[in-house]
Amino acid sequence: MKSIKFFKKNTIIWWLITLVITLSIVSFYNYNIQKRLLLKQMQSDAKDIVSSITAAIKRFNDIKSTMNLQKLVNDMSLDLDIFEFRYLDPNGVIRNSMFQDEIGKIHAGKSFKKTLQGDLPLGEFFFEVRDFVPVMAIYYPIQIKKELVGIIDLAVEVPENIVESKNVDDPVLFYRKVDITNLLKAIEGSIKNSISIFRNTNIEDFLYNYVNSAENILQITIIDKSGNVVVSSNKFLVGKHFDFDKLKRKQILELEGRPVYRMMTDRSIFQGDKNEQLMLLIDASPYKKNEHTLFKTALITSIIALLIALFIARAIYRSAIKQSKEEKERLERLVKERTHEIELLSKTDGLTGLWNRRYLEEMLEIEFKRARRYKHDVSIAVVDLDHFKRINDNYGHMAGDEVLRKVSGLIKSCIRETDFVGRYGGEEIVLILPETNIKMAKMIAEKIRAAIEANPVEFDGYTIKVTSSIGISNLRPEHENYHEVFSEADEALYIAKEEGRNRVVVYQKAQNRTSDSPNK
Ligand code: GH3
Ligand code: MG
Ligand code: MG
Repeated sequence: MKSIKFFKKNTIIWWLITLVITLSIVSFYNYNIQKRLLLKQMQSDAKDIVSSITAAIKRFNDIKSTMNLQKLVNDMSLDLDIFEFRYLDPNGVIRNSMFQDEIGKIHAGKSFKKTLQGDLPLGEFFFEVRDFVPVMAIYYPIQIKKELVGIIDLAVEVPENIVESKNVDDPVLFYRKVDITNLLKAIEGSIKNSISIFRNTNIEDFLYNYVNSAENILQITIIDKSGNVVVSSNKFLVGKHFDFDKLKRKQILELEGRPVYRMMTDRSIFQGDKNEQLMLLIDASPYKKNEHTLFKTALITSIIALLIALFIARAIYRSAIKQSKEEKERLERLVKERTHEIELLSKTDGLTGLWNRRYLEEMLEIEFKRARRYKHDVSIAVVDLDHFKRINDNYGHMAGDEVLRKVSGLIKSCIRETDFVGRYGGEEIVLILPETNIKMAKMIAEKIRAAIEANPVEFDGYTIKVTSSIGISNLRPEHENYHEVFSEADEALYIAKEEGRNRVVVYQKAQNRTSDSPNK
């Protein structure tokens, strides 16, 4: 039973340990998943930023190449009947046109080809028919410091007869030419202005402003395929070299004491743009902070689980200790009780419940020594049932036992608590009467004798008459030990038997005795 209990306690503790370990694993597993999610989130944030930056850079480049001149032309054309307007680069590629679908293509006009070949002069009016419409046209060169940067192709409708006359200096056209020239000058100014603005505005400034306006973006850098920095929001980086393999290895790094997330784009991000790659650095402190919180939560969960387990284990341990303590106390009590019982059994007589001979002799020794030391009285009485053999013979051994029990009870009822009654052997009962002189002893013995005589024993339908003979003696100075007093009482008993039984005899020296007999 004990071993089962022990096993159960151990099992609970193993369960607790398993629980704590499982909880810890689960919470750290959860922490890892959340951490990965956070990283993914940051990656997708970074991707969004990159795509918006690349879109912005593309737009920036687009703006650089196409200038919105149409509005300018419309605003300034007044009442001129403009038939066609284009802006071409020096190679004849159409950069701006009234017709959106031809932008980016090479100008296919016959007169333009002639002009490029040098057959027609640049910057001079001429007549031709375009799409069955008579027009006056001009290829107007735009030059910056004598360098040709672009060509304006402008055509206005004119009356057919003027075209046919081929007179470019027709007075009818004079005012119109002035108007067109003014328009061309304005466009030229605007184009030159735009070009100088774009030439002076660089992508570094754009990136720098972009980084400054976004709180979480720390750096945007464009690196060419050999690892050299082409453009960076951090101007000190331009021209420096990066090792791509090293860049790719670590996603989260530390920059000036703060956590930074680095993202490299695919090389294809700037299609056709010399295989350049974009490196983005964004602030990873919110991520780190969240990660830290997650870690703390996981740790706290594990610690709480551990504490609870410890608490339960302690409670179990304590209750086990308490139980075993109680069990021990119970056993000790039981042992004490049993020991007491055994002691009592070893001192008492099984049949009558009186003290046994061994204990009686111990008490005789003790009581007589005590009386001797303090000069106190102590008397001794030896009781023997008369013709007990006959009772056994007439009514059976069982009846004899019953008589012994009853008589023992009677004797006990006649004496004080401080007196000792013991069964000395057979049907001989001995009384030790402390603080009792011989006179009193005689009275007590007489009381006992009378009580036995007056109380026949009922057994198995028979009424068995019982009488007893009692010899008494007391401790006197001449005695060496209790044996001497005992044998005097025994002697007195012998005399009581001799004198006819059922009487009390006090021992007297030299047979000078006192007999107390009802028969007398
Ligand atoms: P007397 O008057 O001379 O004492 O005669 P008695 O028959 O009593 O003689 P004695 O005292 O010598 O006999 C003791 C008898 O008591 C012997 C034995 O058969 C009987 N006896 C002793 N112990 C027990 C006992 O425990 N139970 C029973 N039933 N009888 C016992
Ligand atoms: Mg007898
Ligand atoms: Mg006897």
